[in-house]
Amino acid sequence: MQEHGGNKKNIFYIVYHYWMKNSSKTVESSEHKMRTRAAYYGFKITPMTPERIKNWYEQPIRQPLNLDKKKTPKGQLYIIPNRCKECGFCWEYCPENVLSISNNFNNKGYRYPTIAEGKENACVNCSMCTEICPDFAIYTEEVKDA
Ligand code: SF4
Ligand code: SF4
Repeated sequence: MQEHGGNKKNIFYIVYHYWMKNSSKTVESSEHKMRTRAAYYGFKITPMTPERIKNWYEQPIRQPLNLDKKKTPKGQLYIIPNRCKECGFCWEYCPENVLSISNNFNNKGYRYPTIAEGKENACVNCSMCTEICPDFAIYTEEVKDA
């Protein structure tokens, strides 16, 4: 006796095996094509191994030659608590983690951003918070000669 839905299952397995067979063929043939083409142009393709990937990430980072002459900008933060609606964008997206949520509430009942502990001089004036705040409740100004 045939199992209920047996035909459907068989069709599924046939399609699945056909697809698997052909997809592996495609990968093999495209790899082969790549190697042949590389050999034609005088290159050698070395397969990526976990060891190679590890070394790749441990390579020294390229830096500009005049890096020592560059100064990191500094920003002065201004927060207008009563405009804030606690959406959290500014403290979530600040790349230097300068901001955190205050324990105090504004006159609309929302908690607003404050400078996180130990981050008093960490603002790099990137303007992310200024740009992202939907309520114009935060902005920065560059500190000259910082
Ligand atoms: S200007 Fe940039 S670094 Fe400074 S508080 Fe805003 S998001 Fe953070
Ligand atoms: S992005 Fe603006 S509205 Fe949102 S929490 Fe920060 S200051 Fe408040």
